[in-house]
Order: sequence, then C-alpha cells, then structure tokens
Amino acid sequence: MFFKRIEMHGFKSFAEPVTIEFDRGITCVVGPNGSGKSNISDAIRWVLGEQSPKMLRGSRMDDVIFAGTASRKSRGMAEVTLVIDNSDNMLPIEYSEVAITRRMYRSGESEYAINGNSCRMKDIRELLMDTGIGVDGYSLIGQGKISEIISNKTESIREIFEETAGIVSYRSKKAEAERKLAAASDNMARVTDIISEIE
Ligand code: ATP
Repeated sequence: MFFKRIEMHGFKSFAEPVTIEFDRGITCVVGPNGSGKSNISDAIRWVLGEQSPKMLRGSRMDDVIFAGTASRKSRGMAEVTLVIDNSDNMLPIEYSEVAITRRMYRSGESEYAINGNSCRMKDIRELLMDTGIGVDGYSLIGQGKISEIISNKTESIREIFEETAGIVSYRSKKAEAERKLAAASDNMARVTDIISEIE
C-alpha cells in the first residue's frame, strides 16, 4: 500500500486543481518558504479525517478553503482526493486503488466519498483503522511530534503500540458492542417496569 497521488482543488493555497503524483519510495517536496509545501501534508491530514483546525495550522475549519488573493477570488469549496494503491489488499476493500475524497463548503457542510461513493467520515476512519495511515496513526509526523512521543506518559505510548499492533479496531468494536449492550439492558429494565405495572 502506498499513496499514488493527491488531487487538491480550492484547498488552502491550491486555488486551481493540482495533482501531485507520488512514486514508490521517497518523495521530497522542495520549494521556497510559503510556497505551500506544508499545505500538501495538511491536505493529506485533512482528507484522512482531521477534525481539529489547529492540527491544520488554522483557527477555524473553513480556513482550509482558498481565501483569495489580491488577484484571485476566494473559493466556496475545498476538495481533496487521496488515491491509495491497495494492490496488496492491506485496506479491507475489494479495490486495488482506493480514492478517498473530502469536500467542504463555506456553509460548513462536509461530504466524504470512497471511490466516488458517498460515505460517512466513520467509514473512512474504519477503512484506515490499524493501517497506521489514519489521522490517529503515525504515518504523519508533524514538527515536534517525536519529542512529544518520547516525553509521553506510559498510557499514551501504549496507545501508539496498540495502533501499530493493529488492535485498535477491536477496541473500538468492543466499545460499540458495550454501548449497545448498555442500551439493551436499559430497554430491558424499562420493559420489566412496564410488565410489573401491568401485573
Ligand atoms: P515554509 O517553508 O516556510 O514552512 P511552506 O512551503 O511549507 O513554507 P505553507 O505553510 O504550506 O508553505 O504555505 C503557506 C502559504 O499558504 C501562505 O502563503 C498562506 O497565505 C497560504 N495559505 C494558507 N491557507 C490559505 C488559504 N485558506 N487561502 C489562501 N492561501 C492560504
């Protein structure tokens, strides 16, 4: 599995549609200060489901939409598609190429898609869980992250190992099952109350 390309339109400084191809191996992005290098990693983070504007170096989520310049009008929408090679079937989906899309409008409305089919953010998170490439994974290492990890508490370091070992999806399925069980036992208690009232 590897990132094949990223397509951005209206995202931060990328007002016009831009496609960046990644090859297998290492890709280096070079350019003058302020030319948009970090905006590319922000786009990857965003399309993978980042919900915190701070992690995207902004103060509001709509800061990711092209804000306009003296010569160019602002945009009403930001769209990013990340195309992932899945020929090794590491992602649990029957496609050898997986395109994840996130779109956001100034109204605050967001849309997500997997291979062009609308989906929920949750579906994208579940697809990427335990692969290490989700926003909670460790494939995106921001400045200062390494020293933060080293100085982390034991529980946080344990979370890193759990993500790497691939057991996070089981934890989240267990939590969901426990939530459903709690709701079912609440319902049972209510039914028992009603029955005892009738009797
Ligand atoms: P450095 O080498 O200094 O770290 P960089 O190449 O990583 O710089 P970025 O931080 O990716 O550059 O890009 C910063 C540029 O992106 C700035 O010119 C900023 O004005 C522009 N930018 C950020 N958000 C938006 C937006 N919403 N609309 C328009 N331009 C934006």
